[in-house]
Amino acid sequence: MKLHEHQARKLLSEFSIPVPRGIVASSVDEAISAFHELGGPVVVKAQVLSGGRGKAGGVVLANNEAAVESAAKNILRLEIGGYSVKRLLITDACEISKEIYLSALIDRNAGAIAVMASSKGGMDIEEVALQSPELIMRRHVDYATGLPQFMARELGFELGLDWDQVKEFQSIASNLVELLKQVDASLVEINPLIVDGEGHCRAIDAKIDLDDNAMGRHPELENLRNPEEYTREEIEARNAGISYIKLDGNIGCMVNGAGLAMALLDVIKGEGGEPANFLDVGGGADSVQVRTAMNIILSDPTVRVILINIFGGITRCDEVANGVIEALGSISKDVDLVVRLVGTNEDEGLSLLKTAGISAHSSMVEAVKQAVELAS
Ligand code: GDP
Ligand code: MN
Repeated sequence: MKLHEHQARKLLSEFSIPVPRGIVASSVDEAISAFHELGGPVVVKAQVLSGGRGKAGGVVLANNEAAVESAAKNILRLEIGGYSVKRLLITDACEISKEIYLSALIDRNAGAIAVMASSKGGMDIEEVALQSPELIMRRHVDYATGLPQFMARELGFELGLDWDQVKEFQSIASNLVELLKQVDASLVEINPLIVDGEGHCRAIDAKIDLDDNAMGRHPELENLRNPEEYTREEIEARNAGISYIKLDGNIGCMVNGAGLAMALLDVIKGEGGEPANFLDVGGGADSVQVRTAMNIILSDPTVRVILINIFGGITRCDEVANGVIEALGSISKDVDLVVRLVGTNEDEGLSLLKTAGISAHSSMVEAVKQAVELAS
């Protein structure tokens, strides 16, 4: 789950990392009043879930009302990284004497947190990473202990900071690692971390990616979720408690249980077919969830066959059958349906399907073979 800069900045401040003041605006008028409220030169910044805003013209310095007006107008018309700009951040402009790159991320291979820093921070950090990776320092940090003081100071001196700045940097870097741990982020990045006109370190851009699988531990962060990160189907699925991932093929799959769903994808591939999605309605799905799942699959225009593979344990086959029949009743689309239905209340489920004119397989492989044939 990706956060906007203004959301990420707020988390940085909560972890005592100095960040310039900022106000979110969704119109030119709001941008102008934010400028007056801040009362000095500002930067008008596009808030999109994408980097490279500076290069795309989405970050503009403005010293007066007219400049703010024209910057806001222009930026609200931009599309950056596939996102149209809907909101702006109006923030105090800083004098910059140095731009540093600083980030912390979960390094799965190392089983540790990786902290990265470079004195070549700013908009060209991707090129630096490609062309001269040696200019980016990398340290592994034990998850339990966090960033040791000596390591932070060493990085600070390597960055060319003076003693007072090293102390500020050390506090920022260790708080950044603490933030990563506390919110279960997979990445926290400050680029640039600047040395300002008075020689102080401050974060003027921030990027945070939260680990979706840890969101259950952070109900307080759920309201930071941004709908534009997801397709309509993904949102619908999440709200219904369904795991849904879009794939490239034409066989739409509905399965109960992630393991069975994975097995089904393997068998489809093994039989020469291509799955259109991974979809797990979950254990104990009721007819409403099944209907929602069916609608999500049916809204995918590439789907030619729907393959339902249910092994009812907690899930009851009659609930599944009802959901399927309800969903089919409301569509007029030309798709074939292949069902494999076994387990709890199987007889009830099969007779419901039969009444509706749908036959079912008891073997997964047989069902897949038929689906592949119909799809090709
Ligand atoms: P990004 O391009 O999406 O990473 O957006 P940033 O927020 O990092 O801004 C891009 C660049 O704009 C920075 O690297 C700075 O060079 C410049 N910039 C941003 N804020 C300020 C500011 O307050 N003062 C000055 N002088 N430049 C700024
Ligand atoms: Mn940046």
